[in-house]
Amino acid sequence: MSKHVVIVGAGLGGLSAAIHLRAMGFDVDVYEKNTQVGGRANRIERDEFRFDTGPSLINYPWVFEQLFAAAGAALRDYVELLPLDPSVEFYWRDGSRLQLGSDFERLAHQFEQFEPTAHAKLAAFLATNAERFRFLFDHLVLSNARTIAAWIGPAPKRPLLRLGLHRSLDAELARFFRSDRIRAALGSYAMYLGGSPYSLPGTFSILPFGELYYGLWYPRGGIYALVEAIRRRAEEIGVRIFCKRPVRSIVVTNGRAQAVQLDDGTTVTADAIVSNVDVPTTQQMVQGTRPVRRRWTMTPGVITFYWGISRVVECLHHHCIFLPDDPRTAYRQLRSRLPEDLPFYVCMPSRTDSSAAPTGCSTMFVLVPSPTLSGAGNSFDWQRATDRARNEVLQRLRLHGVELSPSDIAVEHVWTPLEWQAEFGLYDGSAFGLSHTLWNIGPLRPPNRDPRIAGLYYVGASTTPGTGLPMVVLGGKMVAQEVAADARRRVR
Ligand SMILES: Cc1cc2nc3c(=O)[nH]c(=O)nc-3n(C[C@H](O)[C@H](O)[C@H](O)COP(=O)(O)OP(=O)(O)OC[C@H]3O[C@@H](n4cnc5c(N)ncnc54)[C@H](O)[C@@H]3O)c2cc1C
Repeated sequence: MSKHVVIVGAGLGGLSAAIHLRAMGFDVDVYEKNTQVGGRANRIERDEFRFDTGPSLINYPWVFEQLFAAAGAALRDYVELLPLDPSVEFYWRDGSRLQLGSDFERLAHQFEQFEPTAHAKLAAFLATNAERFRFLFDHLVLSNARTIAAWIGPAPKRPLLRLGLHRSLDAELARFFRSDRIRAALGSYAMYLGGSPYSLPGTFSILPFGELYYGLWYPRGGIYALVEAIRRRAEEIGVRIFCKRPVRSIVVTNGRAQAVQLDDGTTVTADAIVSNVDVPTTQQMVQGTRPVRRRWTMTPGVITFYWGISRVVECLHHHCIFLPDDPRTAYRQLRSRLPEDLPFYVCMPSRTDSSAAPTGCSTMFVLVPSPTLSGAGNSFDWQRATDRARNEVLQRLRLHGVELSPSDIAVEHVWTPLEWQAEFGLYDGSAFGLSHTLWNIGPLRPPNRDPRIAGLYYVGASTTPGTGLPMVVLGGKMVAQEVAADARRRVR
């Protein structure tokens, strides 16, 4: 029976794996390179302003409840999740807006601004996707099948044919909605999956569905309050977490991962090694075997602004998304540069939780999608891009009645893909990991267990099941099951 597991990286996937493995009886040590756990879900504090670095919203709260239950505790005893309604508001240049939320009548009313018969269409969209969502989670999403046949073989065939794999997300949305505004809003989630609504499979209509149907949540104290709660529970059940202990390499001997070597030269042997570092980056850390040859198709990068505003900003909701007039062109340009008509996302945590900013002030997080480092190329000037993005965000906000000038920004912190890569080892500066194109899902996505190296496992955004906090937390359970099954079989 494998007893000692080393986890490299304390992102949410790594912490979830640690909890599940510990609950199964393993000795678990987590080595994290940074001073704080959480990975992309980190925290910056400056002059009493508190910023979550990456994720700003939670969906599928039951996933976090199940994580705490696996650790013998109740999530509500550690952190309070606040529902957000409206969950998000979309803005267009002509002044039109669309508010999403989980109240069906209010949502239908919002949709009817753009499409008079939207009430019935929305009902049909929700019904179709409720079935699809259940089917995907019951049969496909949480599978580590190695082949397409093993993946889809056991699943009932009729719902498989209705997954919309053969059409794009936009085409799928067009089956329900004629309005290009509704489609642009619901399709905009494609960016986080590394494509555009015109290229990603229609199956991903479950993303906007999940948000509409199950709602969005914000932990009191910020996303990092949830991260701290998970860390606390992990340590309470006996997981050992070592921060500021970067792992330099994973040592493979005779086809088996035997140990990790830390930056300070220490070697730590283990029965199993779970890497929470981005999969392509992990591949570069493996010593003693041939490197994997694969072209990694990554999600875009981001330029993120963390602004402490010296006054209260009234007129924005918690989550706001500013869309371009021509999304098709913006998605295309995003592959190699900042789009001319810049889409961006704004989160105002202090709207929901006043403790995020000093009295009379606001915290503002702005996420501007950008190309990855290789997409932008070596000569790309990130400083210029940042300056341009800042100006355009402020201009666009002004267009929508939010009067903010650079002098209102009392505190500014900025991360480009260069910082995202340096801070967390994100391959190619990609913010959300390996993309979810048709060629990167199911058995075509790197599985939780390395197929070539015994004793080496993966958890996190670039492996199975995929990106986003709930997915990497679910991945923690999946990888723990793989480690435990191998330990029982004693074959690896
Ligand atoms: C800007 C942004 C906004 C986002 N918004 C949302 C959102 O609103 N909702 C949502 O659900 N998801 C969101 N996401 C996605 C979500 O943050 C990620 O999918 C998730 O946090 C990834 O977790 P992970 O398990 O892959 O670990 P990561 O967060 O990638 O953590 C990996 C850890 O490994 C550590 N590490 C790296 N190299 C080494 C080494 N050599 N030795 C030791 N440790 C190492 C890193 O420091 C890090 O702590 C967002 C992401 C970004 C970037």
